[in-house]
Amino acid sequence: MSSPAHSAVAPDTVAPVRDRVDACPGALQTHSAADGELARVRVPGGVLTADQLRVLAAAARDLGDGHLELTSRGNLQLRGLQAGTQALLGARLADAGLLPSDTHERARNSLASTRSGRDGEGHVDASRWVTLFDAGLRADPALAELPGRFLATFDDGRGDVSGLGGDVGLLALAPDRVALLVGGVDSGLRAGLDDAVLLALAAARAFLAERAAQGSTAWRVTELTDGPARVAARLDGPREPKVDVPAAPLVGPVGAATQVDGRTALIGVVPLGRLTADQAELMADRTAQVQLTPWRSVVVPDLAEDTVDDTAVDLFRTGMVFDEASPWLRVTTCAGRPGCARSLADVRADAVAAVATRTLPAGGARQHWVGCERRCGRPTGDVVDVVATPAGYRIEEG
Ligand code: SF4
Repeated sequence: MSSPAHSAVAPDTVAPVRDRVDACPGALQTHSAADGELARVRVPGGVLTADQLRVLAAAARDLGDGHLELTSRGNLQLRGLQAGTQALLGARLADAGLLPSDTHERARNSLASTRSGRDGEGHVDASRWVTLFDAGLRADPALAELPGRFLATFDDGRGDVSGLGGDVGLLALAPDRVALLVGGVDSGLRAGLDDAVLLALAAARAFLAERAAQGSTAWRVTELTDGPARVAARLDGPREPKVDVPAAPLVGPVGAATQVDGRTALIGVVPLGRLTADQAELMADRTAQVQLTPWRSVVVPDLAEDTVDDTAVDLFRTGMVFDEASPWLRVTTCAGRPGCARSLADVRADAVAAVATRTLPAGGARQHWVGCERRCGRPTGDVVDVVATPAGYRIEEG
């Protein structure tokens, strides 16, 4: 590993000017990377059935490099796909219900509170919002124009995903009172439980209308001039004094958690966010549904008491992390070499070596290792950037 050099440079926080429409990869519109085609499969709310997980695992093994990459938006990526396999991948995904719309597939980015409706925390079950929002989005042809970076967050009130930089979001303030977030801040607009999703969909349309009015190709609400306020001003509804949006936790939950029904959810971090096909199939054998989280972890819920220990041991043996003191809760990387031609280093191998030798820079603080200045996959919130340069890694404390 190259030795880190220290710097006090802060990353640029000015909203970028977009001079082109976004080219975010999808399941059909793949990205050509140095290690083959890359497909991104949108997973609204991070929820996958066991059958869908099996289909993805088989696709990763048959068509890709044998891994499913977890993204910071709870989506999945397949890498190393051979050119020409897109149609086959698309057919497999469609058969599994993972590609319900060709036109809207890249716009289906949504995060929901982890274990919502299962653990008794929060005011509502946010998973219902995910289903309704995704159906409403796909039913509106105009919303196919949403950029592939557009993100919706659905927070049941526990405050885990509202601070993750959504373009639109719902935050439950009480069982019957919901705040609309726009560009990551409270718009002041309020809705009841049943009409909250309609308000979120209206906010997505208002983003497109404001973007057109500004003659912009912005990918995110915050890239528009006065974006959050101007988008909110286009919406009707009751308003209240604005509340502070809870900051996102720097690390997600990990370990075993008891559900309200007495069963157990296991939450395991996947180092480097690289879930193997074998790991995915093991999970699919133990539960009917999993939830991917924005912290590169997977929730394996609904485990009966007599299956929890065996499942935890089996997943631990595959490399999943259940210890909240593990450095893998705080270390993320971009793809780096050999997958990305821009990369100046094999950042994954270097990060693995630094964890193994206990030589993580910045005192082991939450850190994101990248192969170049683009800093792909950088998590939201306070994070130290470990940036590859021709002279080794530069450490930037954000
Ligand atoms: S940060 Fe740079 S090296 Fe890493 S994946 Fe993005 S473009 Fe490639």
